[in-house]
Amino acid sequence: MEDTTEGIPLQGSGEADVLGALGRKLEGDLSFSGERILGSMCTLPHPTSAKVYEHYLDRNIGDPGLHPRLQQLERETIGMLGRLLGSRSAEGAIVTGGTEANLIALWAAKRKHREKRKVVLPESAHFSFDKAADIMDLDLCKIPVEDDGRVDLKRYLEAIDDKTMVLVAVAGTTGLGAVDPITEISDAATAWKLPLHVDAAFGGFVLPFLAEAGYTAPAFDFSLPGVSSITIDPHKMGRCAIPAGAIVFRNHDAAVASETEVSYLAGGKTRQRTIVGTRSGASVASIWATLHRLGRKGYVETVATCMENSCYLYDRLRSMSGVDAVIEPQMNVVGFSPTKHRRIDPDELARRLRGRGWALSLFPGFLRITVMPHVSRKMLDAFLHDLEEIIA
Ligand code: PLP
Repeated sequence: MEDTTEGIPLQGSGEADVLGALGRKLEGDLSFSGERILGSMCTLPHPTSAKVYEHYLDRNIGDPGLHPRLQQLERETIGMLGRLLGSRSAEGAIVTGGTEANLIALWAAKRKHREKRKVVLPESAHFSFDKAADIMDLDLCKIPVEDDGRVDLKRYLEAIDDKTMVLVAVAGTTGLGAVDPITEISDAATAWKLPLHVDAAFGGFVLPFLAEAGYTAPAFDFSLPGVSSITIDPHKMGRCAIPAGAIVFRNHDAAVASETEVSYLAGGKTRQRTIVGTRSGASVASIWATLHRLGRKGYVETVATCMENSCYLYDRLRSMSGVDAVIEPQMNVVGFSPTKHRRIDPDELARRLRGRGWALSLFPGFLRITVMPHVSRKMLDAFLHDLEEIIA
């Protein structure tokens, strides 16, 4: 085959040649079916999700007039997610992931309060809010978090004022899986008549199943009257193929704020609620199918296994000399760091672990493992063995 670094080759090649060349080019990259990814919030997609995805690859839900049944399927899927999150009248859209969902939530808030720009949020909030603020010229008022990873409620409430456009809370922080005191923040949202967006990109497919799995779950969803929108990512703990995100609004009123009318499409005039135009219909079909394939019981089992493995990892880390576990896991996220007197710092530890093939996430002062469905006990044991050797 021709070298393609110069541009698209003049002549096309046979499929076997192309696939062979591609395989060689990507050889050595990590995959979720491998045994080394410990720091990602994504996971190996459920086989049904992958199968359905492939089958409906040619569907563009951005032009829903072409696929009215798919549009209905998207409504049903958002309806299922809404019910999971405590609303029977939820509306929204399937999107590319948490970043787009958070952006849409802030965009909808901005359209309702054009004269305001202040967003109150925990400093643990995902960097997608920094992107959103940059794009929309918003002022982020970041509130520090406490030792347990939850936002300092007193400082959060004190920061709300007449300039505030929207409140943001996180249900499952990226670093530690912590859940902010959302009940109290919801009360403040109601009192100030402000929208409250909850980023449950990660927690959305964990928290609703925790109680049935035998763990305590804090309130975070539409059962709290002040919550107006929620980000939930099927491509994280929902076990769907990437990309699969969702922005779920409490009701029609909250959802229409992000609408844009489009008139020229082949399927006819429509109102889009997303930032992107052309959208993967395959991801809608794949989410719907995965929710039906796994059912509530399937998700409870997934969460129970991930939590058991998280507690196992946490206990092993606590009994290992040379490392400190940051906080007791509230979800399937475990943070740890080398104990202070060790000569190795978290950056160096992450580098040495990567040298042995382990891909973990590095946050200021600690490393983090997300104990996803692809993370087995065997994998954790192999990791702990390497960690012990490095730290010794
Ligand atoms: N919100 C939270 C809490 C996250 O942890 C993440 C990603 O890890 C996002 C949003 C962004 O999601 P995505 O990478 O799918 O855009």
